[in-house]
Amino acid sequence: MHDTIAQIQLLRRQKNAVILAHTYQAAEIQQIADFVGDSLALSLEASRVKDAELIVFCGVLFMAETAAILNPRRKVIMPDTAAGCPMADMISAEQLRHFKAEHPGAKVVCYVNSTAEVKAESDICCTSSNAVKVVSSLGTDQEIIFVPDQYLGKFIEKQTGQKMILWEGYCPVHEKLSADMTKEAKSRFPGVPLMVHPETRPEVQELADYILSTGQMIKLAKESKAQRFLVGTEMGIMHALQNAAPDKQFIHLNACLLCPDMKVNNLPKLLNALQNEETHIRVPQPIADKARLALQRMLDLS
Ligand code: SF4
Repeated sequence: MHDTIAQIQLLRRQKNAVILAHTYQAAEIQQIADFVGDSLALSLEASRVKDAELIVFCGVLFMAETAAILNPRRKVIMPDTAAGCPMADMISAEQLRHFKAEHPGAKVVCYVNSTAEVKAESDICCTSSNAVKVVSSLGTDQEIIFVPDQYLGKFIEKQTGQKMILWEGYCPVHEKLSADMTKEAKSRFPGVPLMVHPETRPEVQELADYILSTGQMIKLAKESKAQRFLVGTEMGIMHALQNAAPDKQFIHLNACLLCPDMKVNNLPKLLNALQNEETHIRVPQPIADKARLALQRMLDLS
């Protein structure tokens, strides 16, 4: 392991590479990354990379595609392109085109957990950090299609009071967390505040004290006076939380919250990607150009 890390450190310097990692990545990946963040922070960071030649993206495919779209002058590689996102694959560009045809005049807000082709068919993107802000920016009279996450969509509806036309996608990892599992964990830790991700089911969100993106969870962990938290999102966040607030205690809600795709990457694959640069993420230019508009409209609100 030490040898692998030493080789990664050497190659990243030789190749002038920057390593970006999502907060759901394994601890070993987060520890070696130059930057760890949620989807919004990673999108911003990827768009600002100027000095590095190479971006090594440790996350899932839609995130690396987003980095490639936002920074077309840099080469973006991934440790393993098999790291996909089942929620992103729940809607295709063709399905979205049909959906739009059924609702002419509606604007499409697209969660970044989507393919480049779906982003290219959308008016504006959002992340779980800025979804409420993005939808509010469109005005209350605007008919809105929201894809692909129905649970994030319902959360936004509740926050804004605005009804949207929701695609019935979901995150198969967060969807596994039931209200019963959540109640059981809460009963074991009475009085401990519970934070959950808006990709969880509405009945789980009802039981939470905070419904937050991973970036917002880390901010709360640092700033809150509470010393203990129950955490209802993918378990990779535990490393990021503990790192952000080492003196506090974080209790993971349930082991079902493990994303196999987020765990496809590991250090040997990261080393291999740096050595061979074979996993170059390329988004066809016409799609990238259209998707960039939707992403940039989101970033302009940040
Ligand atoms: S946690 Fe859910 S939304 Fe995130 S990559 Fe895994 S399947 Fe996709």
